[in-house]
Amino acid sequence: YQFVASMPKVELHAHLNGCIREETLFDLARQKNVELPAKLFSLDHHTNNDDHVNSFMYNVKPRSLTDCFDMFAVIPKCVNDLASLERITREALQDFANHHVAYLELRSTPKRINQSLSKRQYVETILRVMKEFQEVEEERYQQQSTSTSSTETTTRLPMKCRFLVSIDRSGSVHEAQENADLAIEFSQQPNSLVVGMDIGGNPTKNDFTDFKPALSRARKAGLKTTVHCGEVPVAAGPDDTDPRLAKARDEVLAIFEFRPDRLGHALLLPESLRNELTTLQVPVESCPTSNVMTLELAKHMGGDLIHGLRQHPQLQYWLDDNYPISIGTDDPGVFNTDATQELVLLAKAQEGVTTETLKRIVLDSVNHAFCNVELKDQMKQLMGEFFATME
Ligand code: 5GP
Repeated sequence: YQFVASMPKVELHAHLNGCIREETLFDLARQKNVELPAKLFSLDHHTNNDDHVNSFMYNVKPRSLTDCFDMFAVIPKCVNDLASLERITREALQDFANHHVAYLELRSTPKRINQSLSKRQYVETILRVMKEFQEVEEERYQQQSTSTSSTETTTRLPMKCRFLVSIDRSGSVHEAQENADLAIEFSQQPNSLVVGMDIGGNPTKNDFTDFKPALSRARKAGLKTTVHCGEVPVAAGPDDTDPRLAKARDEVLAIFEFRPDRLGHALLLPESLRNELTTLQVPVESCPTSNVMTLELAKHMGGDLIHGLRQHPQLQYWLDDNYPISIGTDDPGVFNTDATQELVLLAKAQEGVTTETLKRIVLDSVNHAFCNVELKDQMKQLMGEFFATME
């Protein structure tokens, strides 16, 4: 655990509102008189293991896909002004930095969170907090580098942050186009932190193809793209007549045809589509705890994440094939996880994963990042040097 905690990491799949700390959510709900659905928060905090290092392997907050979307409906009611948006952004950045994330791509769906705060101001606020955070990180790193008292375990690289503008597929096409306008506009500013767009949101709502024009426009303007994919069951072949499964298959095929720069999750792919993906080699953002929760893989195992992750439909294939993947937290606040936990879980659950494998995955993830080549090269060098000091 200590080794993984102190190694530099890359986080490519994190949704801002899903990063909210539980205590912050409770605090904001109290301040704003928002009633949180009891069913989602009345879970016990006990674990069946007193050892703090291993206790997280039992997650006592087993949130299904439906529970997640119930939470995502309530969080914006608590994050409904500038101060709370700044707070959750700063806390999310701090939490990733505390887990030695050296490069973070945070994503969020622009919201008109009250009468006086437009979608543009929502994005501006997040970008401002990110820039301030990066400056403080850089200063801290300079001081750390010149200080003789810092040790390998306390030192960490300065966190670099980039932002992806999300499209929520449960919203309208008009909203998606507005978000694309904002993403394009912000990405064209000097030294912009906006590097890409994402399509996420409730996968049972609407269709990828509804939002494809907005994403295409962003791509033409130079932004990178990532699409959530395969989160609901998909037909094994073209002959399957179940309309829901057939629609899900058509959707995955349409996403493959679009060829985004990365895919989110790519979970429930039948063999034929897994093989097609192997040909495409589109990097996948895999989020272990989130996948175990939303697919309810640990439901009958008392929340045991290790056993749950061993039922993951794709991970072992990807690891065996050296398929390009990154490991992300998705929604650390909702799934009660963090960047260290995800890597430790992977190592404990999947066969053949050593610290060398984790280093390789992390370094490889830099290649999938949406930032420019200069920053990628800089990250690879800094991380390579850091890993060398850990040997
Ligand atoms: P936000 O965009 O509001 O900052 O972050 C929360 C939003 O991210 C959710 O409302 C949802 O649209 C999206 N999201 C978070 N986790 C998941 C996930 O696991 N799957 C999908 N499809 N969307 C997600």
